[in-house]
Amino acid sequence: MPKTLRILCVEDSEDDAELLLRELRKGGFAPEHCRVDNEADMREALTGSSWDIVVSDYSMPNFDGISALNVLKRHGTDIPFIIVSANIGEEIAVMAMKAGAHDYIMKDKLARLVPAIERELKEANIRHQHQNSENEMRKLTGAIEQTTDSVMICNAHGIIEYVNSGFVRMTGYSKDDALGNNSRLLRSGRHDDSFYGVMWDTISLGDVFQDVFINKRKDGSLYYEEKSITPLKNERGVVEHFISTGKDITEQMQTRERLHHLSQHDLLTGLPNRMLFNDRLEQAIPRTRRNGGILAVLLVDMDRFKNINETLGFDCGDHMLQAVGGRLLSSTRDGDTVARLGDDEFAIILEDVQQTEDIAKVIEKIIGSLSQAYYIDDHELFITSSIGVSIYPGDGEQPETLVQNADVAIHHAKESGSNNYRFYESKMNSQSLYRLNLESSLRKALEREEFFLLYQPQIDLVTHQIIGFEALLRWAHPELGIVSPVEFIPLLEETGMIEQVGRWVLRKACQTCMLWHKQGFGDVSMAVNLSPVQFEDEHIASVVKNILDETGLPSNYLELELTESTIMRNAAEAATTLSQLSNMGVAIAIDDFGTGYSSLSYLQKFPINTLKIDRSFVSEIATNDGDVNIVSAIISMAHSLGLTVVAEGVEDADQLMLLQSKQCEYVQGFFFSKPIGIKDADELLKNWTKNISPKYFAHSG
Ligand code: C2E
Ligand code: MG
Ligand code: MG
Repeated sequence: MPKTLRILCVEDSEDDAELLLRELRKGGFAPEHCRVDNEADMREALTGSSWDIVVSDYSMPNFDGISALNVLKRHGTDIPFIIVSANIGEEIAVMAMKAGAHDYIMKDKLARLVPAIERELKEANIRHQHQNSENEMRKLTGAIEQTTDSVMICNAHGIIEYVNSGFVRMTGYSKDDALGNNSRLLRSGRHDDSFYGVMWDTISLGDVFQDVFINKRKDGSLYYEEKSITPLKNERGVVEHFISTGKDITEQMQTRERLHHLSQHDLLTGLPNRMLFNDRLEQAIPRTRRNGGILAVLLVDMDRFKNINETLGFDCGDHMLQAVGGRLLSSTRDGDTVARLGDDEFAIILEDVQQTEDIAKVIEKIIGSLSQAYYIDDHELFITSSIGVSIYPGDGEQPETLVQNADVAIHHAKESGSNNYRFYESKMNSQSLYRLNLESSLRKALEREEFFLLYQPQIDLVTHQIIGFEALLRWAHPELGIVSPVEFIPLLEETGMIEQVGRWVLRKACQTCMLWHKQGFGDVSMAVNLSPVQFEDEHIASVVKNILDETGLPSNYLELELTESTIMRNAAEAATTLSQLSNMGVAIAIDDFGTGYSSLSYLQKFPINTLKIDRSFVSEIATNDGDVNIVSAIISMAHSLGLTVVAEGVEDADQLMLLQSKQCEYVQGFFFSKPIGIKDADELLKNWTKNISPKYFAHSG
């Protein structure tokens, strides 16, 4: 198959041209040609098509070989140019070759034409390839030079062999500085040996290593470089070079660090927030374990901080919190963490503590510093604080446990008044857990009908009759058994459930009393305890009235027991409520008398019927002269104010006799009966006068 050859013939003689073509066909070419014999036609032919070769006569009437060569050169294409001519002499031939002709063939030696063309085509091909790769190379280096990324090529030993301008810009090192140096030149000391170890392991195995490097510029400043290091292998597969390309991401990293800082700090005080606090604690625990020291978690809470916000405004509150943060910082050491967990709640991690006494010292310092006056927005302010402490090791292994236990401790601290601190004790937790558990089952107790009432009789010391009963609440807890009201009534009060439960007690007690009336014990009255929370309900009088109406119990058979402090808490309102109740005919008793304000003359202002002397006095009267005196004083004062007296907690005959001798009207206590269920109370009522009462009063006849 003949090879196509596009040949531009610069030749005035058509015959000579035909000779050439024939020679070419003979040599295995299929020439496609165009013949021109002047400059204009040649230029047109060159622009119009592409050519493999130009063959030119040397001398023509209107043109010549050297001019043709110049036309080709000016056109700018690299095509082999061969002069085919009659003998023109050695000198001209040399000149033509010097001017750029590729060969010179005499017309009578045309046999040389085909080999010459083949050789020139091959060489032109090589030249083109060369040219192409040179162009490629130029583009490539141009690109590498112009990219903003840094490019560095090192040999297998890390010696820098090439750096681009991006490298120069990024690092501040000139090419001269860098070339021949070790790439270690850029190390900042911010990565440990293992970082570079992994890098070398990766690239030595022929894999690409990518990471963010913290490197150092020539001027000593640090920068972040997101870098890929690619190993370059030779033909035998051996890694001989590494090419590193990197982007300067310092600004992004700084933005990210700023955001990170923001996400981990409290805006108001600039202190670490809860997230960072937890992180720090999580790291500090294993560190303390290794070093064998003590770590303390302190929760610091401002007492009644809300008041500042509410009365002086949030700006003032904010300034206060900033000041508190500052004082906490200056009361602790540099390595300690002071964080703001929320509102007015701060937390501190004390690390590297030698002994617990040192913690107490720091806390005293903190409390002392926080309780100094604050001068904020023209106000002189004082604030007290409470601190709860948990300690590692001992109070928990996990950050959450330590914080939780410090929180348990802070509640105990608050209970003991302001400017107080408490170390966590494990029994605190079981107490609060117990309370928590109790609270949740308490919420279901009413609908599950777990409450019931016991009744304790009150006995008239003159007639020896049962004049009434006190209703006492019990809770039958499914697991704990019978729970004492002392434990769950405060919980009912805190949760507000007391209103509902209290109403249930009142109704149940009135129903029972009504039942006894119907059974023929029409003189028996019922005493019901009222919690301060119930008493402060402005509707309490109508609640009582409704229950009396509902159960049908005449109001004079109901006595409500209140403590002194319940009445004193809000004396003005108490007076109103008490007169409402009293006007309805309900009797009022002061319970546990003697344990509170003991201001009988003050109580005189209220419509009160009965005083119940607290058990603590009664229990000692037979043995303690002081208590006898107090009890007789209470009784005679009560009488002078027209009140009747009930002595609580009578446990033996001696106490009973003493109370009788002091003209106490009524008694209540285990000596006669513990609080009992409704059936036992029925029995007691039935058998009292005939069988039981005489036993107790044998002495008095
Ligand atoms: P309280 O009103 O002073 O009731 C008297 C308490 O003394 C009762 O305890 C009773 O069992 C106990 N007691 C009576 N006699 C003796 C005695 O001779 N020796 C001894 N050691 N104790 C005696 P209880 O039933 O545990 O009730 C304790 C307190 O719980 C009551 O004190 C009362 O303040 C409150 N409470 C009971 N039931 C109710 C209720 O329905 N509502 C409200 N708000 N409080 C209640
Ligand atoms: Mg009572
Ligand atoms: Mg009492």
